[in-house]
Amino acid sequence: MNSIMGVSLIGFARGQVGGGARPYDPNKREFFGPEFTWARPEEVSSAIQKAKDAAPVLAALGHKPKSDFLQLIAKGIEDNSARIIELATRETALPAGRIQGEIGRTTGQLRLFAKLVEEGWWRDVRVDHADPTRKPVPKPDVRSMLVPLGPVAVFSSSNFPLAFSVAGGDTASAFAAGCPVIVKAHQGHLATSELVGTLIVDAVRQSGLPEGTFSLLFGPGRTVGIDLVTHPAIQAVGFTGSRSGGRALMDAAAARKQPIPVYAEMGSINPMVILPGALVDRSQSLAVGLAGSVTLGNGQFCTNPGLIILEAGSQSDIFLQQLGSELAKVIPAAMLTESICHEFIAGLAKFTELPEIKVHTRVDVTNGQVGPTLLTTSGQDFLGQPALLEELFGPTTIAVLCNGIEEIIEVVKALDGQLTGTIHAGPEDNPQIKILYPILAGKVGRLVHNGFPTGVEVCHAMNHGGPYPASADGRSTSVGTRAITRFTRPMCWQNFPECLLPEELKESNPLGLFRLVNGTWNKDLPE
Ligand code: NAP
Repeated sequence: MNSIMGVSLIGFARGQVGGGARPYDPNKREFFGPEFTWARPEEVSSAIQKAKDAAPVLAALGHKPKSDFLQLIAKGIEDNSARIIELATRETALPAGRIQGEIGRTTGQLRLFAKLVEEGWWRDVRVDHADPTRKPVPKPDVRSMLVPLGPVAVFSSSNFPLAFSVAGGDTASAFAAGCPVIVKAHQGHLATSELVGTLIVDAVRQSGLPEGTFSLLFGPGRTVGIDLVTHPAIQAVGFTGSRSGGRALMDAAAARKQPIPVYAEMGSINPMVILPGALVDRSQSLAVGLAGSVTLGNGQFCTNPGLIILEAGSQSDIFLQQLGSELAKVIPAAMLTESICHEFIAGLAKFTELPEIKVHTRVDVTNGQVGPTLLTTSGQDFLGQPALLEELFGPTTIAVLCNGIEEIIEVVKALDGQLTGTIHAGPEDNPQIKILYPILAGKVGRLVHNGFPTGVEVCHAMNHGGPYPASADGRSTSVGTRAITRFTRPMCWQNFPECLLPEELKESNPLGLFRLVNGTWNKDLPE
């Protein structure tokens, strides 16, 4: 069994022991386990040098060994699920069922990328044959595909200790692309991070891959994290967390001699418009569903619906009563970390002090256990108070009561970039929907119709990202197979003889890939 030592994993080597911080149990409000030592600058450099050495080996790795490597990580996590659940529930205060679900999501994600790697179509191979007879100039033979960027730094998130952490979506998609990964662990789940990190190292060894394929560093973002992002060998960054943290990394990356992409997913208030038709015959079920979505994971989801936009009137008043009653039933729970809890309490106090805000329902905070809150405001007050555009990370939502559809449209137009946007409507709302969806679409990365934004499906078609500030780069997703493209770049081979072309681009198509040949998608299988 892999023992928790509290040190960074620098490829196959362990960092020095020295003392930093201990894992924290938010339920018991006590520290436990060994002291974790923050990575020293020379350990950060060593991890980066090893990653740099590993990069060309991984870039040249065949589809099958890369796929097998991802499968091995998934198996290691599954085989150690009991221990992972024990550590992660203790460190995050999330229930065992949620962690079990996250194990399934994490291993499913790794296996989805393993299958993708084996199928190879993610390479986006394009072949344009030469035409020496073309006038006035002959056409060259041009072939291209996506190739890995090189070493990637991943900042794991606090709110998904597995699925967006050490072996989460960023790591899985970077490995699938053929990039070495260095993870900067989140301090909210140190022991879980080390355990999962050792499982990846085991998979690297068993697969015979270079040790620089993976490293895990413990330490503060402002030192260890910034050292990583500013090192010339790092070629891209994946991040999930606060807007201030993401922005700091974007700025540091942009200030480098060679600026690099930072794929930061930084939070969202996920507006939900509820049109009158939705309240006619499903007001109560909508209240139950929405209360569940607002309080899922104690509100610590990036897709948490933090803004409800609806028309003022008696139907909406009844709905808010129903929603308030459902929220009041929710048992308060500890938040992921002490600092997230402090930020939530301080943020809620700031909101409730605003003259524009009324507290509709509130379950008080006791002994570090936080319950849900429903706030209300008018459309006019919302439009006059920019502070209400900020994310309040926790089990809270604000209902904006508007004076008719025109004001709803104004409120939607005033929103920043978001991960998701939802409309609940009945058949009689069709004319309004047709106006609202195009406006909402300009603000978000995912539209949800008559549903709830929490629960992000990991699949080929998913988009989890949105216009800034929801994401650093709204052209990318951090969930689903398209996430792989973040860690790639297109590369073109012109007039190459067959023997010098990579397998993917050879005329004989030995890998049997779907390719765009002379403008037509086909799978020209080998003879
Ligand atoms: P965070 O404070 O942004 O931290 C995430 C990671 O970034 C940590 O590893 C942190 O390092 C690092 N970091 C933060 N600021 C940095 C900086 N200026 N320079 C370099 N690295 C930096 O996020 P969090 O701890 O997960 O939660 C804090 C708040 O973020 C929450 O209260 C919530 O508002 C928001 N959040 C939003 C989402 C979302 O998806 N919407 C998810 C999680 C959190 P350290 O080890 O030094 O902390």
